[in-house]
Amino acid sequence: MITSLSATPDRWSLDSWFTGFGAPDYVEFKAAVARDLATLLQKSCSLSHDAETVASALVAYEKMGERIGHLAAFVGCLAAADATNEAVKADEAWLATLVAEAEKLGAALRGTLVALPPALFETVVQHSELDGATHAVRRMREEGSHQMTAELESLAADLNVNGLHAWGRLYETLTGKMSFEMTFPDGHTEVVPMARRRALMSDPDRRVRAAAFEAGQKPWVAHADTLAAGLNGIAGTRLNLYNRRGIPNFLDRPLFDGAITRASLTAMMEAIQAQLELPRRALRLAARLQGTPALHFFDLEAPQIAAPDEKPLSWDDACTTVQRAFHAAYPKLGDYFAGTLRQRWIEAEPRPGKRPGAFCTGSRLKREERMYLTFHGTVHDMVTLAHEAGHAWHSCGLRPTRSFAAEYPMTLAETASNFSEMILLAGLRRDPALSPAMKAYLVDQEMLRAHAYLINIPMRFEFEQAFYTERAQGEVPISRLNELMTAAQQKLYGDTLLPDGTDPMFWASKMHFFISGVSFYNFPYVFGYLLSQALFARFQAEGPAFLPRYEAFLAQTGSATCEEVARRTLNVDLTNPAFWAEALRAMEPALQAYERLA
Ligand SMILES: [Zn+2]
Repeated sequence: MITSLSATPDRWSLDSWFTGFGAPDYVEFKAAVARDLATLLQKSCSLSHDAETVASALVAYEKMGERIGHLAAFVGCLAAADATNEAVKADEAWLATLVAEAEKLGAALRGTLVALPPALFETVVQHSELDGATHAVRRMREEGSHQMTAELESLAADLNVNGLHAWGRLYETLTGKMSFEMTFPDGHTEVVPMARRRALMSDPDRRVRAAAFEAGQKPWVAHADTLAAGLNGIAGTRLNLYNRRGIPNFLDRPLFDGAITRASLTAMMEAIQAQLELPRRALRLAARLQGTPALHFFDLEAPQIAAPDEKPLSWDDACTTVQRAFHAAYPKLGDYFAGTLRQRWIEAEPRPGKRPGAFCTGSRLKREERMYLTFHGTVHDMVTLAHEAGHAWHSCGLRPTRSFAAEYPMTLAETASNFSEMILLAGLRRDPALSPAMKAYLVDQEMLRAHAYLINIPMRFEFEQAFYTERAQGEVPISRLNELMTAAQQKLYGDTLLPDGTDPMFWASKMHFFISGVSFYNFPYVFGYLLSQALFARFQAEGPAFLPRYEAFLAQTGSATCEEVARRTLNVDLTNPAFWAEALRAMEPALQAYERLA
């Protein structure tokens, strides 16, 4: 049972990590990490190539990762909870340089692994100190086989800070200051920050959406030259580096990061293309509900069934509802969630100075998790809470595992969080206390999600593929970026979008294309969404007997590729389009419920 709930959303406690920011234990920890990292880096330059030495160096690197991760989690939590704190910001910047140094250590060790003769490498892998780390060490060697000399990699790491990532920072700065003048349907005119445009484009009033779209388009057009230079710069740098590292295709690196094969990605995307009619049915209904022959781009994120005018959820209510849904379907998850509340592991209080968004983080050193969000009392916030709790439960399942086997890719991370969301949503659907209006609203929200994962994000993938293909031949001009974006939208949306309803400037306004640290920030989300749909369908069919297999799945997410984990624990073949087709069909009941409502 929940023991300590308060009416105001929780503030988290980080006391078990450090006494406080700037406290002696924190200062000492920082100094020790910097000192030990420098020593390791120096040692790595002249590592003797015997199994014992290499295995010890790898273990030292693993332990160093835990300590840096502990610091990064602490500072990251403080920075998110108070974005105005300049001292914390300074430590954040210091940490970025520390991480770059650790990256150099990683590169040096990968270089060592590549240089080992195959038999000696196998001896290292089999070393007792590396028990359970086989997957990580093999991945290090694989990555190492596609890297430049240590000196060039070091230069690339430094240049990326001032080149590649500078484009990302420029994007943040430029768009953070953007605003536009908008005339509302009642005739009043307002200067609106760009950050509000998305909320305005989700307004139930179509006239508000249209006005926000048209007026909000102007700054993107005005800055198109700068933004196109940024996009070309980011992709161009990556392509140069891939070329120098002997990586033949621009998808190779994102696939490696996602720990999936091209065959699985192709199978998933083929299944989506073949079943586009499923999410399109929801869009057709949305058009009918608003009385238009098809949708405009500015209609895509708008609810067609408004949230009922019920009073905002209290923090207590939200926690109790999540807790009840978890407990009914998956008691261990419910107990875990109650424990995180008791220990004050959730930061949810709305207050000025907090960064937007939600995340889950944790310390491998302390084997503890933390969740971050800002709770305003909406159903959406409650779903976010369940989402982050899913991430936290995933990390909890990996606590007994060594760190080398606990690092999972984004593809599998998003599977665990979506699974928890679905437990909550299924619980709400069954809840007799919930009003029919709220249930209708939830179905509409579910359709919005299906559209995002099955049409909108695949559309971004389609665009990026076309863009990278052309970028390899030279700079891609604005007019061509607009054409590629329009073509991708027409391909995925088909006739559910009005002929003049595309957004050619979406390549500029979607921040995800400008994330300089991760390439193809799109398909891992689709993967996580669909795999979790498939897992949840099995859970519903098999009941509690499925849960031990789910836990085995979570526990292995850091020690094998996605294909291997899925085959071993769930006996499914991710390279088979039929598997993905089945996952897609899992949305049919919700779709039918939506059709009945309409
Ligand atoms: Zn997530």
